[in-house]
Amino acid sequence: NTFQDLGLNDDLLHAINDMGFETPSDVQAQAIPILLQQEDDLVALAQTGTGKTAAFGFPMLQKINVDSRTTQGLILSPTRELCLQIANELKLYGKYCKGLNVVAIYGGASISEQAREVKKGAQIIVATPGRMKDMISRNMVDISKIEYSVLDEADEMLNMGFYEDITDILSHTPQDKSTWLFSATMPKEVATIAKKFMHNPIEITV
Ligand code: AMP
Repeated sequence: NTFQDLGLNDDLLHAINDMGFETPSDVQAQAIPILLQQEDDLVALAQTGTGKTAAFGFPMLQKINVDSRTTQGLILSPTRELCLQIANELKLYGKYCKGLNVVAIYGGASISEQAREVKKGAQIIVATPGRMKDMISRNMVDISKIEYSVLDEADEMLNMGFYEDITDILSHTPQDKSTWLFSATMPKEVATIAKKFMHNPIEITV
């Protein structure tokens, strides 16, 4: 099983080669073909360290239109550190995707500076729920044309009390977007979110 077999394009394969990744991890081998070929929702039970960022990152990078400045992908993640880590990984993976702009937004840093970054035209936003909700309410960000949304570490986000923020944020996104949920565990609360916001998700377990 190679990255090429999974259907990734040359820009991504080039970056993957630069990074020295040799074979897809389990979650990548399972998720990438599904996310590339289908517009279905996905629930993936996967721990950190399994390569899940690339599992949703590669398909998102391949599917977004970098010639447009519209925000098409939204990734929600529980902490500032994770947001920055995901955004940095996506920038590395997408280094040959010309015109790509990935922006991280999170609390504890200047909101106006982040709003300026978003305004330049970010195809992908990686955000913590609290700051995201804040920026939506201040009209600093438009997620009305999102096509792909990721709930990363969904169990952690719910543990941290982000249920209402997530609900509020998703209510500002189109009904027909795809939602990809990643979680290390599947407590009742995560199942509830999946049921409420997702349509017949394909389920994979790593
Ligand atoms: P993650 O689980 O997404 O936080 O990824 C854990 C680490 O594994 C990151 O440092 C990635 O750069 C790295 N990684 C992801 N996919 C692969 C792969 N297929 N081969 C080798 N390393 C990888």
